[in-house]
Amino acid sequence: DPQIVFDGVGVTYPNGYRGLSDISLTIPAGQMVGVVGLSGAGKSTFVRTINGLVTATEGSLTVNGRDVTTARGKQLRAVRSDIGMVFQGFNLTGRTTVLNNVLMGRLYSAPWWRTLLGAWKSDDVELAMDALTRVEIVQKAYTRASELSGGQQQRVGIARALAQQPSIILADEPVASLDPPTSHVVMEHLRRINGELGVTVITNLHFLDLARKYSDRLLGLRGGHVVFDGTGADADETV
Ligand code: ADP
Ligand code: ADP
Repeated sequence: DPQIVFDGVGVTYPNGYRGLSDISLTIPAGQMVGVVGLSGAGKSTFVRTINGLVTATEGSLTVNGRDVTTARGKQLRAVRSDIGMVFQGFNLTGRTTVLNNVLMGRLYSAPWWRTLLGAWKSDDVELAMDALTRVEIVQKAYTRASELSGGQQQRVGIARALAQQPSIILADEPVASLDPPTSHVVMEHLRRINGELGVTVITNLHFLDLARKYSDRLLGLRGGHVVFDGTGADADETV
């Protein structure tokens, strides 16, 4: 069964702006998807709709068998527990350690009381350290996040998503604040996580070359519509 099913999904923002129109497609588990298009095309809206950060106002959207379109409160929390998020601006807490930042990923899957100071279990810490090892930054576990470079901070952002043990990672412009060499390092980590752990990875990317290199499938958006759905090789033929 497909893991993510968009069926006639549209998004109209409260101010009347159209974010997405009539999206019907499925994404199988384990696929790495690059979402491309110009600024304002709807990439961010597409990604955020998947975990209910943006509400689909038309059609139906199912993720891991749960209806996201109607999910609220506890149901929405259940949807999000399976989905790790990686942000353009990293969204780390600079004053605390890298390890504490990664433990925040456990917020979504562990009971809330464990998040109180000192209440993390050794399992949580082990998961966090494993995630930091995977993105090759475990040597910075006890460093304050603000002391890291942008590329290192984004690897911590990925570790935080991984510590959640998600089946899906959504990355909203994960390399837009990074220089090209660092962008490749970050994308290689996401690609490896996809390949080795089978996590579905859906990434918004500004640059077509990065999307082509690190995706199984490209989704091209324009004006909130899907105007391209295929592989990098298909994209070459179209261009
Ligand atoms: P992209 O990520 O491709 O730059 P977005 O998904 O951010 O595109 O935006 C798609 C459209 O939706 C744009 O017209 C944008 O102005 C609009 N939009 C995005 N977020 C909001 C919002 N929170 N409120 C109103 N309109 C929005
Ligand atoms: P980012 O993509 O890192 O979130 P943006 O500057 O594109 O940075 O967007 C900042 C916020 O503003 C986002 O939450 C986005 O959804 C929202 N936004 C984007 N376009 C609009 C819009 N036309 N009206 C209101 N909010 C918007």
